[in-house]
Order: sequence, then C-alpha cells, then structure tokens
Amino acid sequence: MDCPYAKKCGGCDYSNLPYEEQLKKKERRIRELLGGFAKPEPIIKAENPEHYRNKVHGIFGKDKKGNVFTGIYEERSHNIVPVKECAIEDEKATAILKTLCELAGQFKLWVYDEDKRTGLLRHALIRVGRKTGEIMLVLVLSGPVMPSKNNFIKELRLKHPEITTIVLNINNKRTSMVLGDRNIVEYGKGYIEDELCGQRFRISPSSFYQINSEQTELLYGKAIEYAQLTGKERVIDAYCGIGTIGICAASKAAEISGVELNRDAVRDAINNAKLNGIRNIRFVNDDAGRYMVRMAENKEKADVVFMDPPRSGSTPEFIDSVNRLKPERVVYISCDPETLKRDLGLFVKKGWKVQKIQPVDMFPNTKHVESCVLLERVSNRKADSYVKLNVKMEDYYRIKDAEGGEADG
Ligand code: SAH
Repeated sequence: MDCPYAKKCGGCDYSNLPYEEQLKKKERRIRELLGGFAKPEPIIKAENPEHYRNKVHGIFGKDKKGNVFTGIYEERSHNIVPVKECAIEDEKATAILKTLCELAGQFKLWVYDEDKRTGLLRHALIRVGRKTGEIMLVLVLSGPVMPSKNNFIKELRLKHPEITTIVLNINNKRTSMVLGDRNIVEYGKGYIEDELCGQRFRISPSSFYQINSEQTELLYGKAIEYAQLTGKERVIDAYCGIGTIGICAASKAAEISGVELNRDAVRDAINNAKLNGIRNIRFVNDDAGRYMVRMAENKEKADVVFMDPPRSGSTPEFIDSVNRLKPERVVYISCDPETLKRDLGLFVKKGWKVQKIQPVDMFPNTKHVESCVLLERVSNRKADSYVKLNVKMEDYYRIKDAEGGEADG
C-alpha cells in the first residue's frame, strides 16, 4: 500500500512493503532484540491492516489560499503537512476531519498560529468505539470563546449524526502536548464507551486506550492466558489505564489492584468496574514504581503482576519491588522492544526466567511492534548465563530523555 504522505509523515515506515514482509521484518527485530531470552512465537498478524486506528488526530493549518486543512507535523519539525486521507485511520474519523475544515472556512474560524500565538483552532482528536459505534470529537482551542459555537456544532451534528459527544478542550500553552487541562462538554456525555473482550469501557478525552481495538482483544487474550489464573490469585495490574486488562481478567482471579498515574484514567477505571458489575477490583492513582515499593515494604502479597508501561518502559525501583513481592508470574506487555529488552535484563539478573515472548501486530504499516512476555520466578537460581547482561543505569535515563510527546502505547 503506497501512501502519498509516507515520506513527510514518517508514521508508516513500512507502508511501501507488502503486509507479509512487514510481519517478517517485525519478527526479525523481535528475534534480534529478545531472542537471547527465549525463542519468540510467530507474530499474531492483523486481519485488517488498514483503517484500524480508532484514535485520529489532526492539527489545523491554513494553506496559501486561506483554506483550512488538517494534517500532521512533518517529522522532526513543526511544519504541518496536510493529510486528506490516511490508510490506517478509521474512515469515519477522516470524514469528520474533512467536514471540520469545511465548517471552519464557512464560519471563518481562525486557525492557531504557533509562532504568533494567534488564532483559535488547534487540534481535532476523534475517538471511535469500534464495537459500539460511539464517536467522540475533542476540539482543542486556544481559548474558551468560540464565535458561532452553537451553529457550528449544530451544522456538524447534522452532517455527522454518528458523533455521540463533543468536547471543547482548552489549551493555551506552547507545548507539544495536544490536550490542555480544561474540558467543556458541549454535547453528549463527554466520553465514549467501547467494548473489549465482552466488557464495556468508558474512555475520557485524556485517558489512554489501545488504538487498535481488534488486535487488543488478541493481545489481552494472550496476556490472560500467560497469567494462568485459577480464581485464587491476587493480581496487580500496573500501568492500568482505564482498567481494561484487570477488568477482563477479574472473573478469573480472587482480587485485582490496578495502579495508574493519570487521574482521569483512574476515574474511568473505577466507573468501568461498576459498569461491568465487578467487585473484586480496586484502583489506585499513583506512580506505579512508588506503589510497588510501598507494596514490597508492607510485605503485601501478589501472585501475578501484569505490567503495561508506556514506551519508556518501567523503572529499576518497580522491577526491584516486584522481585521482593515474589509473585509466581509477571506478564509484561510492551510497545517498545528496546525498553522491554532493558527491563527483561533486570528481571533476569534478579533470577527470573523469560518463558514466552509473543509479538502482536498492533500497528500495521508502521515499524512499531507490541509484545507480550511471560516471566517466571526461578527461586534461588542465578540468571541464565547465555544472556548477556549489560544493563546499565544510564540506559534508563537515555531512553527516558529520548521520549517526548504522546505515544500510542
Ligand atoms: N494497560 C492499559 C494502559 C497501557 S498504556 C491498556 O492496555 O489500555 C500505559 C499507561 O501507563 C497509561 O495509561 C499511562 O497514563 C500510564 N503511566 C505512565 N507512567 C506511569 C507511571 N509512572 N505510573 C503509573 N502509570 C503510568
């Protein structure tokens, strides 16, 4: 699939390769990075490698003729490249972006200029519940006053009755973060609901939600299989977002504790437990590392730990505390095999063994690859000697520094 924007966008490095070849490249990368720990399973491919992205982000720009467009930042710059269509984005979202540009022209709304810090329209963020069909539009503005707001929204809803909620988000800062702190719900509930693995989830504007819903069900299925739950276990769901993994696993465990840094996501998670009638789960709003240190200091018990950190990976304090808690198993879900390798190295150094590595293609046409790893505690055993252990503390800081903006998981 050739994409006319591939070069400038930089999002789909593999868009010029047939899908089967993309998969081979990803398998090779996982083998090279993680093959020293265990033999990786064949990658779980996507049935649908196009138009899978349930979250679509457009930056507003203006061309020389004064027409409003949406696009993306050119790689490593703040130039906005207009994007009329995208091969991996949900098509309903693409159609809404197009209408937003037409209406912005019709209502003569000003587009935000980053250098001059003038204008109103900054970004549009659209989320589609792939199972429920609910759609949320978050319109990011530089200030709360939007001329002709009611008519604009009326017109938009006429053209797109499929939109179920519209939120204005106010972001007046000079920042690479898309969303500001303030949300004003203009229409609907202010969030959408979607379904994964038969459970229902509420998703607020700033909460993390896996961007490929179809593949997420397969990923979570694998993670829960690796956890080998019998109904008796105490489980930790670390970096839990809106509680999806814990809630999907809850019926198979005795009790689950989720920990997550983003307050809105925790609020969603608590609601999601209620929404699904789940009583054996609780959520804590905290840094996962700090939470685990406290768990270890209080000599709490855990049998299984799910961990699904952001791209920058986990931290030595988190891994050290997991080790002190002595769970039977850790299921590590990662969207970055580099930081995964670094973190697995620390586990192995502490006497853990990597039993399974399952790559999952969550991001077709891009170079990114998700992995689900099963680690088991090997009591009183030294690390496997064939694994080269050269994990240095600098690695943590180097990778963290390189991280910027918002990632997809
Ligand atoms: N498991 C969830 C979320 C995974 S994304 C899912 O599958 O949807 C990673 C999550 O980690 C995000 O929700 C992010 O807000 C959260 N996070 C980032 N840094 C964190 C930290 N230091 N402590 C706890 N949570 C953190």
